[in-house]
Amino acid sequence: MTESAVASSLLTFLTQSPTPFHATENLKQLFLQHGFNELNEKQDWQLVAGQKYFFTRSDSSIVAFIKGSEDIRQTGIRMVGAHTDSPCLKVKPQPEKLIKNYAQLGVEVYGGVLLNPWFDRDLSIAGKVSFLNKSGKLQSHLINFKSPIAIVPNLAIHLDREANIKRTVNPQTDMSAILLQSDEKIDFRQMLQQQLEQEGCGDVEEVLDFNLSFYDVQAPGVVGFKSEFISSARLDNLLSCFVASYALTQADTRYSALVVCNDHEEVGSNTDIGAQGTMVDDTLQRLVPDSIERQLVLRKSLMFSVDNAHGVHPNYLQKHDEQHGPLLNKGPVLKFDANQCYATSSDSAAFVRATAKQAGVPLQTYVTRADMRCGSTIGPITASNLGIKTVDIGVPTFGMHSIRELAGYQDIDHLASLLSQFYATAEVSV
Ligand SMILES: [Zn+2]
Repeated sequence: MTESAVASSLLTFLTQSPTPFHATENLKQLFLQHGFNELNEKQDWQLVAGQKYFFTRSDSSIVAFIKGSEDIRQTGIRMVGAHTDSPCLKVKPQPEKLIKNYAQLGVEVYGGVLLNPWFDRDLSIAGKVSFLNKSGKLQSHLINFKSPIAIVPNLAIHLDREANIKRTVNPQTDMSAILLQSDEKIDFRQMLQQQLEQEGCGDVEEVLDFNLSFYDVQAPGVVGFKSEFISSARLDNLLSCFVASYALTQADTRYSALVVCNDHEEVGSNTDIGAQGTMVDDTLQRLVPDSIERQLVLRKSLMFSVDNAHGVHPNYLQKHDEQHGPLLNKGPVLKFDANQCYATSSDSAAFVRATAKQAGVPLQTYVTRADMRCGSTIGPITASNLGIKTVDIGVPTFGMHSIRELAGYQDIDHLASLLSQFYATAEVSV
């Protein structure tokens, strides 16, 4: 198998992005390296045709765009959406527990976590910490302990003989993470202060608050006898965030294009920085201030909502319709749902099929079994909020929402080629 530049950059990105905050920071660095200008939402924007821009909100969502050298009112905007968050265990606001002499941290479940795989993993903690500095000023810093400082041990099978048949998981009682052995209750904020100091914030008076996630320290890997697969945490949906952003950095500046990576998709998107928030709409208002012109532009635009799909698992064939079981490494998947949990229409799908043909990229098709409930993503939300034609696509994966997911190595290139072709297409209205 040929080594892919996008795939190897993706592996580095995944390693360095244990939380949406870190993912956003790393995407920001990627855009800066490729000549994008950082914008501040608290200021006026002077946007110039042929230039590239980005801004972040709350440090965990990001919008990057090219204001094309060709008139946006003629060419519309090529939009791609993905999400920076992944289901995980978070540290509770007042997490300290002391049971026997084990100092533990209480956990909160973020999103639809597959809980079992979190046992017996070497866990670290990362995220954003807000503090008062010595001059009384409020500041924040992204921290990452990096080393495995916590673990949630399993209960031995000898103490639960029916574990393989019946064990259920209660995150409130079964999943507090062990941090250390101690005779006294720990002061977690004090530990955070020490970590901040170690990471170069020498000026901390008091830690006030935090948004911290546990993560598995095992680095992403290329696995399989012929190295066919990528195995990593957070493939849903950092894979799509990275590939969409990477492809945008390679695009020329002729046509207008935009990538939005929102936080909070896994918990419903209904926040200021989620897909229900105003980030894309606010960007469009600044890009095309006249509301009638903006409507014209939107009618000539198309949105790719990119989020991973379920590959058909060889051990669980019955979970898929026999005609709609996407295979890893066989190309991105067009996701359909007659009840509109996916925003794909026959028009937008036809456009993607034509684009894939031009790019030489294979495509697959997914629809949920008629007797099962369909998942959803940011596609229908953006489509209904903006009134923009949308298509839901994504690479097929196994183990979605596990602490480690699996994707096809070649699909990284397939997705990048498809999105590059989209950014380079003159006419995208369908
Ligand atoms: Zn997702």
